[in-house]
Amino acid sequence: MKFLFFFMDGIGLGQDDRRRNPFAQAEMPNLSALLGGERLIGLPPGVVLESERATLLPLDACLGVAGLPQSASGQAALLTGVNAPAILGEHFGPKPNPAIAEILANGNLFETLKEKGRRVALLNAYPQAYFTEINSGQRLPGAVAMAALESGLPLMNADDLFAGRALSADFTGKGWRERLGYHDTPLLSFNQAGARLAELTRNYDFALFEFWVSDVLGHRKDMHEACLWLKRFDQVLGGLLDAWNDDEGLILIASDHGNLEDLGTRRHTDNPVPALVIGAPDLRHSFSERLGNLTDIMPAILRFFDVE
Ligand SMILES: [Zn+2]
Repeated sequence: MKFLFFFMDGIGLGQDDRRRNPFAQAEMPNLSALLGGERLIGLPPGVVLESERATLLPLDACLGVAGLPQSASGQAALLTGVNAPAILGEHFGPKPNPAIAEILANGNLFETLKEKGRRVALLNAYPQAYFTEINSGQRLPGAVAMAALESGLPLMNADDLFAGRALSADFTGKGWRERLGYHDTPLLSFNQAGARLAELTRNYDFALFEFWVSDVLGHRKDMHEACLWLKRFDQVLGGLLDAWNDDEGLILIASDHGNLEDLGTRRHTDNPVPALVIGAPDLRHSFSERLGNLTDIMPAILRFFDVE
């Protein structure tokens, strides 16, 4: 059984308000079909959305700690099952501080699955400049990359991207050509990138892909650009769902905190985040049973793999 964790930074379940929430107006036919005609917006309290292929439920990202949820502490909660903000006494981000680094080093999802003999991967490709800056101390890895590194998982690089073993954070490779100086990066359409995610996941038991542009767009507060990217994401989702057989396992689309769903503010939000679970009904229902907040994701993934 395969598990793909499609992590999207900074998306919450917001209001059905076209002026503030790009999810309320973006052209997203694949997501809408997946949700039985609904949009990815807030659900009434206690309601779980069920469709033919998916279950959507809200996850609390505040975790009982005052202030607005942040990326490093939220991602640490997702990747360790530990209430990192409660331990720190605050939400913290975007990059891990020493306390969060310690939480990530102490048995994260990648590490635990790897120790139990599962094949795991972080499917993002990182350019050489990223490795140079990390190694020289100019840059801190984010919580996801740090968790992978702590577990001894090599981060994939340009060679992996060119060989089709990894995906670029912008899905298509266009950003690598135009902004990172890799002028002959192979290009994918958004649809092909989604299909590639399905193919790559088949090489492992557990694979994670991190899409962080969503959080950047939330901070920028540009509705037009946000809708454009959601349309692109929807094409990725279409390619992924076409290439994916629901009997192969589960796809989880989830986030660390709200942001993009409310362009009335540049800041993060305290909205719940989506846990969108895609797969055969029995599989996704047993996975979703005990999901209430960010710390429930890692235990649910371990249960999925029969690992305690
Ligand atoms: Zn942010």
